[in-house]
Amino acid sequence: MTNIATAVWAWGGRIPAAGIELVRSAAALAVETGGELGVLALGIGARVAADTLRAAGADLVLTCEEEALDTAPGEAGLAALLASCDVLRPSLVLLPADSLGRDWAPRLGYRLGAGLVTEVTDWSLEDGRPVFQRLVFGGKAIATMRVAGGVAVATARPGAGRRDEPPRAGRGEVRDLGLAIEAQPNWPRLLRRQAEERQGPGLEEARAIVSGGRGLGGPEGFIPLEQLARTLGGAVGASRAAVDEGWAPPSWQIGQTGKTVAPDLYVAVGISGASQHLVGCSRAKTIVAINRDPEAPIFDYARLGVVGDWREVLPALTAALKEMLAD
Ligand SMILES: Cc1cc2nc3c(=O)[nH]c(=O)nc-3n(C[C@H](O)[C@H](O)[C@H](O)COP(=O)(O)OP(=O)(O)OC[C@H]3O[C@@H](n4cnc5c(N)ncnc54)[C@H](O)[C@@H]3O)c2cc1C
Repeated sequence: MTNIATAVWAWGGRIPAAGIELVRSAAALAVETGGELGVLALGIGARVAADTLRAAGADLVLTCEEEALDTAPGEAGLAALLASCDVLRPSLVLLPADSLGRDWAPRLGYRLGAGLVTEVTDWSLEDGRPVFQRLVFGGKAIATMRVAGGVAVATARPGAGRRDEPPRAGRGEVRDLGLAIEAQPNWPRLLRRQAEERQGPGLEEARAIVSGGRGLGGPEGFIPLEQLARTLGGAVGASRAAVDEGWAPPSWQIGQTGKTVAPDLYVAVGISGASQHLVGCSRAKTIVAINRDPEAPIFDYARLGVVGDWREVLPALTAALKEMLAD
């Protein structure tokens, strides 16, 4: 039996889609191990999110609404995590592989005397203990790792451990963590938040992503991509080559040095399929590739592929989709 702990941000009672997904994946693992899932909900308004977390599979929701989480999220979040582990006594702590999760995981692991596995893309159970998978050598190979004994701390990439079946509803008991956190003068402070200007969903939340690469030939190539993304209610992404060319902003970059995404549908247009790009999109449920080179590596990963010039394929695809969706 493995009791699992995880943490999500819940400002204003709203849990980001990536947080819900992590809770659902952790809940599915808890069911397999016969353990319980405890979720630490962080931020003012966390109590309001308890129902959402129960529906996603949380057995116990610990809330922490301390002001310091806003001004010093790294240190205050770590303090809350440590306190929550005292309550939950987990064998496994699953954290998101985002900037704060990556900051917390090694420090939490050290303090708990735990084994650490980072950037996990999937997991399974062997002899009742979780076995993790992570990509290595720039995504060219998969390493299978297990923490030999004691507590394990792992950071999970978007889509890790995702199962298609709906989660069981957890017990959903709600408790206040009961920890007063006072920001210390030497704690790094968050100076400002800047929201990305983007119409439609963000890349991490989008169920459909249309991504463009060097094969677009210029920034104007992103205009039809945006039309397709809008038709699908999704977001636009880019390869590093397209970003380096200055055709798309860095925040759109998908891959090893960009974002990791796990949408239902990922349409790669004029992208060759370098391992560093695939690391960022390989958890998509369905990859569709449009490329004029039939030998492009992306076709090895795509469920559907169109060999052709995007200038011809994309407008026809968008028009056909619009027609289908209008019916
Ligand atoms: C340390 C490191 C980190 C990296 N991180 C990332 C990362 O995070 N993300 C990332 O994407 N890359 C990353 N890269 C770069 C990566 O190795 C590739 O160079 C990059 O992904 C290539 O981008 P691309 O597929 O758009 O371009 P290309 O490899 O040049 O491919 C362009 C494709 O477009 C096709 N094409 C051309 N014209 C058309 C047309 N008219 N219609 C249809 N298809 C067409 C071509 O056949 C070709 O397959 C990284 C590299 C390193 C070394």
